[in-house]
Amino acid sequence: MVMESTMQQYQLGVATLLRAGQRVHASSEVVTFDGNDCRRAKFTDVAENATRLACALRRLGVSAGDRVGTLCWNTQEHLEAYLAVPAMGAVLHTLNPRLFPDQLAWIVNHGGDRVLLVEACLVPVLKDIVRQLHTVEHIVVIGACEADIAEALDYAELLGAEEPSFIWPEFEENSAAVMCYTSGTTGDPKGVVYSHRSTYLHSMAACMADSLGISQSDRVLPIVPMFHANAWGMPYAAWMTGADLVFAGRFLQPEALCALIAEERVTLSGAVPTIWNDILHYAQSSPVDLSSLRMVVCGGSAVPRSLIERFEERHGVRIVQAWGMTETSPLAAVSLPPKGARTEDEMSWRAKTGRVLAGVELRIVDDAGADLPWDGTAVGEMQVRGPWVTARYYRDDDPAKFDRGWLRTGDVGSVDECGYIQITDRAKDVIKSGGEWISSVELENEIMGYPGVVEAAVVAVPDERWQERPLACVVLRSDAGGVTDICTYLAERVPRWWLPERWTVVEEIPKTSVGKFDKKVLRSRYAEGLLEVDLSGLQE
Ligand code: ADP
Repeated sequence: MVMESTMQQYQLGVATLLRAGQRVHASSEVVTFDGNDCRRAKFTDVAENATRLACALRRLGVSAGDRVGTLCWNTQEHLEAYLAVPAMGAVLHTLNPRLFPDQLAWIVNHGGDRVLLVEACLVPVLKDIVRQLHTVEHIVVIGACEADIAEALDYAELLGAEEPSFIWPEFEENSAAVMCYTSGTTGDPKGVVYSHRSTYLHSMAACMADSLGISQSDRVLPIVPMFHANAWGMPYAAWMTGADLVFAGRFLQPEALCALIAEERVTLSGAVPTIWNDILHYAQSSPVDLSSLRMVVCGGSAVPRSLIERFEERHGVRIVQAWGMTETSPLAAVSLPPKGARTEDEMSWRAKTGRVLAGVELRIVDDAGADLPWDGTAVGEMQVRGPWVTARYYRDDDPAKFDRGWLRTGDVGSVDECGYIQITDRAKDVIKSGGEWISSVELENEIMGYPGVVEAAVVAVPDERWQERPLACVVLRSDAGGVTDICTYLAERVPRWWLPERWTVVEEIPKTSVGKFDKKVLRSRYAEGLLEVDLSGLQE
């Protein structure tokens, strides 16, 4: 018989988190860039608005378990919804405005959203799909809006009519708090529903010193959108610790971001590699001041080592790689060097995919599902489980992604004896040439190390002799030299049989709605003969 503890049966949740920021960190700040100026509010004001929002939603008929969708960039009002909706017992459903209209409509219907909070600049996106929505009863527009939408309510008016007083109900910590659909990079979007407990624990994990280490002295700029896996947990973690939050709204161009970092003295920021790559190129011809940044977290897809090195050398900025997915809330691994690491090895550690976080259990398995050793060499699929890892998808009975309590991530790679992961590919992106795996991630990494290459994506294409071979798609600077030069550079860095024979120089690599290389599109463009293929990389 196990002995019972004497501890209180205290339910973890967003309301607890809300109260912590409101009471303890009332004077911390939320800054929102509107294209010209920055709007500023204290946590106490934000919490008051969140309270009024909860009252207003209740008046509109929202009750426990109802879904409230948000179609917003990163802003103060989006944060208000992040706090109010789950704390009142409803479910926040963050929506990605960059999705194709039909996909977006499908997600709203599938999620069953009753109310939508929409930022004025995104009303045109909503207007395209409004007729297809079957469950939405109220639309609330945030900000002045030119494109009118029938019977829409105004956010400021709605809140203005309420008193800042609401009794946050108590409910079970495993009930739903937030839902987010995967962006569908490799398949149809699937709904993940985070609980109050998972949200709370994940926020604490983001604050761990060997994770993002978010604390009250930070000024956090989540560039990753709040509709993409909860902006990696940064808004809640900042709120609970009293770190100031800086939001860029829809202004995600390098110029605006660099100005915001410099002027607001941002200490921590997070975004996918594409954004940091754009910033790096912008900084080559424009003066930037990134000196306030103590750390930049980068993930969502593999982070090229050259990107980490160039930021360090040119700007003294410390990029740290992280790994995770919508299904893991998303933080699962962060690549800070181990204790005792030599300074000269620092870069190699940070270039790894990540070290698994306390709270996330990881295993690596072969095709037959047998455990593989953590030796840094054996390659298999990563599987994870833990309190902030999903056990299933919302209204979807496809069990293929789960194996007796473990989430099958679909990511392939190795793990070393200290829990550092090295992802070599997504299972759907691996290149199998003559029965052997070529890592598209590693090839991309090396190609992007060549000075004139702006971006590179490598995909598998059919080959008569080898079944599959890599096709390298590159964006080049005008002074980059040609494909033959890149091949010569590459030949010294990867096994000879990895060298792509097929190259295509493109204006831009197609991206998904969350800024990752869209390999599905590249493969189909190749199959349809739409890419001009250069065979000068052909060996022998
Ligand atoms: P989607 O699956 O639609 O792209 P997610 O943002 O949930 O949406 O993507 C999670 C996936 O992103 C992971 O399974 C992995 O393939 C990839 N990923 C995330 N971080 C990294 C990283 N540091 N290195 C390589 N791949 C990564």
